Amino acid sequence: MNHYDIIIIGAGAGGGTVAYSLAPTGKSILILERGGYLPKEDDNWNPDAIFQGRKYQIEEKWLDRDNESFLPQAFYNVGGNTKVYGAALQRMREEDFGEVKHQGGVSPAWEFSYQDFEPYYTRAESIFKIHGQKGEDISEPPLSAEYPFPSLPHEPRIQEVADDLQKLGLHPHHLTLAVDRNVKDPENSPCICCATCDPYPCKLDAKMDAQKACVDPATDYDNVELKINAKVTRLFTNDSGDRVKAVEVEINGSSQQYTADTFILSAGAINSAVLLLKLKSDKHPQGLANSSGMVGRNLMLHNHSAIIAIADRPNLTKFQKTLGFNDFYFGSPEHNYPLGQVQMTGKSKWNRLADFSPDSVPKATLEYMAEHAVDWWLTSEDLPNPNNRVLVTPDGKIKVDFTRNNLKAHQDFVNMWQGYLRKVGFFLFLVKQVPLSAVWHQVGTCKFGSDPKTTVLDLNCRTHDLNNLYVVDASFFPSMGAINPTLTIVANALRVSDSLKESLR
Ligand SMILES: Cc1cc2nc3c(=O)[nH]c(=O)nc-3n(C[C@H](O)[C@H](O)[C@H](O)COP(=O)(O)OP(=O)(O)OC[C@H]3O[C@@H](n4cnc5c(N)ncnc54)[C@H](O)[C@@H]3O)c2cc1C
Ligand code: SF4
Repeated sequence: MNHYDIIIIGAGAGGGTVAYSLAPTGKSILILERGGYLPKEDDNWNPDAIFQGRKYQIEEKWLDRDNESFLPQAFYNVGGNTKVYGAALQRMREEDFGEVKHQGGVSPAWEFSYQDFEPYYTRAESIFKIHGQKGEDISEPPLSAEYPFPSLPHEPRIQEVADDLQKLGLHPHHLTLAVDRNVKDPENSPCICCATCDPYPCKLDAKMDAQKACVDPATDYDNVELKINAKVTRLFTNDSGDRVKAVEVEINGSSQQYTADTFILSAGAINSAVLLLKLKSDKHPQGLANSSGMVGRNLMLHNHSAIIAIADRPNLTKFQKTLGFNDFYFGSPEHNYPLGQVQMTGKSKWNRLADFSPDSVPKATLEYMAEHAVDWWLTSEDLPNPNNRVLVTPDGKIKVDFTRNNLKAHQDFVNMWQGYLRKVGFFLFLVKQVPLSAVWHQVGTCKFGSDPKTTVLDLNCRTHDLNNLYVVDASFFPSMGAINPTLTIVANALRVSDSLKESLR
């Protein structure tokens, strides 16, 4: 069959969620995913393979603003980037939906309020089996329900650090996590709380990534078909240029075409923009869906820093990513501007520390440091700027023309957090601001809004220019707070799916 009711391009967080949500409608759905299934194998949990070997990352080279090439830390496979994500899924704060003044500028308001998104967040948390404790997080927005599962307890060293920081007046909370863990009966739990979750794939299929939570349940339906290793290269429009009629797909070296009534683009914020920008024609001289000239613009990536903090006390924790702090999300007594969120990362192995240290540091020293380290991840908001953009060069390469902003707030935050950690016994810090290649939190290249002159998508994420083309990945964000993006991508995709269900009746 070459004609479907709906074609979805990309089986990651956004595309997977729409497939999951629309599967029960009985409509014929084709999902086209350029990658394959990520294999379950020993290397899934092998730090050498993951860090030094770049295993599972793409081999494409992209260009930065100076045309220097770099290898992006990106993943093409069923489940998209969520296959390796840290599974800390969070709601944006209520205030993030309004205008927020930052040290480096203004984070614009959404045309929706938090309350509009709240029911979809609740559904998303149920689908992704979120573990958490309502009422702990000082910046938590109003929740209409408890989290579906209890929070994962801290291991002893992390509990100790949480207690020490609480004594300084801070408010520790348990991170809201998407793992299939039976907290009450750990011996019979799919998730074993291993030491290799963030940023590794799960060898036991116990991480609630987009494949497990959405794509696998969707493809259980007879009306849903998934083609893997199927890279979409073109979209064809009708003669008047206001509808997409077909996609061209490269499958195993051959080119195929499929037609549909509705097309859902969800190739990730960078690749969705790339695909649209490549499709220039008489009817669409700036690229498909780009009459506003905004496709590819307003890329945001977050300002992230890792802090590996070393103390005398050993840290024997296996599953470390349980603790977070949002005391400084909106500022601090010394800073009248937002700083960001603190969360843990996966426990560092010496291999990861090698990335932070000169080559001359011996392995034994790195191992000692890793054994005594507690690993923090600080995220601050970056602000939408039309000049931060994804481009396609004349020879077809992806260019990420990006200059970081709001950096003073981030640097203040990193310095201040080290000050707190010093007070609770940490004395040595390896700090690294995450480079451009870490495009993990890419959002914002096809912003949504009601004005077709300044936005690419309408408020239902349908392109203003083509009446059967939707974009449901992370491209739609007008601003992103300092919150991990995936739960908002999923919530939005559920919202768009509901409006699609209405129109498909
Ligand atoms: C190491 C790491 C850790 C992370 N940790 C977290 C975390 O703890 N919490 C959180 O909220 N987020 C986290 N993220 C971010 C999260 O993974 C992304 O926000 C999310 O996956 C984005 O969803 P998406 O639908 O926009 O894109 P993706 O999930 O990346 O999906 C895009 C899909 O489209 C496919 N595709 C691309 N081009 C084409 C094409 N031409 N044809 C067909 N298919 C195509 C890709 O292969 C991919 O499967 C992390 C990411 C990484 C890499
Ligand atoms: S912590 Fe759980 S979900 Fe994460 S990789 Fe280990 S077993 Fe899988």
